[in-house]
Amino acid sequence: MMITAKEYKGKNVAVLGLGKSGIATVKSLAEVGANIFAWDDNSEIFSKLDKTKYKIFNLEQLDFKNISSLVLSPGIPLNFPKPHPVVERAKIAGCEVIGDFELFFRSKLKANFIGITGTNGKSTTTSLITHILKYRSIEVQAGGNIGTPVLSLDKIDTDGFYVLEISSYQLDLSSNISLDISVLLNIQPDHLDRHGSIENYYKIKKKIFESRKKNSLGVIGIDDFYSEKIYKDLKNKNRLIVPISTKKEISGGVYVIDGIIYDSRFNYKIDIKNIHNLRGRHNWQNAAAAYIVAKKIGLSNDTIKSAFMSFKGLPHRLELVYKDGQIEYINDSKATNVYATSYALKSFKSIIWILGGRSKDEKIDYLFPYLSRVEHVFTIGESGEILAKQLH
Ligand code: ADP
Repeated sequence: MMITAKEYKGKNVAVLGLGKSGIATVKSLAEVGANIFAWDDNSEIFSKLDKTKYKIFNLEQLDFKNISSLVLSPGIPLNFPKPHPVVERAKIAGCEVIGDFELFFRSKLKANFIGITGTNGKSTTTSLITHILKYRSIEVQAGGNIGTPVLSLDKIDTDGFYVLEISSYQLDLSSNISLDISVLLNIQPDHLDRHGSIENYYKIKKKIFESRKKNSLGVIGIDDFYSEKIYKDLKNKNRLIVPISTKKEISGGVYVIDGIIYDSRFNYKIDIKNIHNLRGRHNWQNAAAAYIVAKKIGLSNDTIKSAFMSFKGLPHRLELVYKDGQIEYINDSKATNVYATSYALKSFKSIIWILGGRSKDEKIDYLFPYLSRVEHVFTIGESGEILAKQLH
């Protein structure tokens, strides 16, 4: 059983982008009896699909006047660098443009919803929260940007939890995201090509706090300029919001110093210094966020600490792949921007560093302060030569 929005029964809907979430969208809409027009710019995809459920129709030729919604995949430009021609066509005709998260929230499920966004650490925090809830035998489903499209998740009981990783693209395509607990980890200037400017990126990230639920809780990492700005803004509006810092003590919030999580609200602390899969200051931020969520759900410190200790971590994120005496081989290939990489470099003292791949034209200077920890660099891939020159 998929998650469905009943209001689409008999309605005309266009779906652009037939990847994982697009296909889930089509299936969900088909289940409620919507009339679906689907398209993907990569026509090779069509042969693999079951076309009984919808019409393949070039949406650049569709008359959007009688279409209720255009459901767009998060990978397709909504506004920047410029809207996809189909988006423009829909907008001119006054047709709303939404994403699968919007359909998910229009399904009016009754359960508890936790959403996690941020430039880095989303998947780790989503998995950590899911792990803690499972550890306590609470019914939980994790989905969204982390892998399983939200519409493919199973229905759960009213006291169960959905833990949702929400990217900025998915936030941008939603107007009804309504969460019981909203987590914003950090904001760094990543993907600006797709968001126009840092101000716009900031505005989109802020949408995670637009909950209409009573007693909803916000959690914000305030170690960067833009997240701190959002925190101050929401605090002034009397929203229940808990700040996190891994740099300084904060009253009324949760902070992590030398691997110890301090909760200034209750005078609690949890030592995570020696928990292998949560090492590094970036993971302290993720763990502090998960801790606040678990506390709000009513779990004890002992339960949270035991759950932390049994957390396996995610592949490719500071993953210990092999240990030979004192030498650890770490796979951090998921660090896809300089900010993520800086945290990885900060987590170790004496590093032999292999880096490279496809260039994003990022300023590598950002990493210079950490180079004293690096003994040797090997550059690889498309950007290998350029990186070697820049680091020389
Ligand atoms: P996302 O889902 O947001 O891409 P992940 O949890 O997959 O983030 O982590 C990707 C990489 O980002 C990790 O390998 C790590 O190097 C870095 N990272 C993880 N958490 C944080 C954080 N809170 N702040 C900064 N960097 C982080």
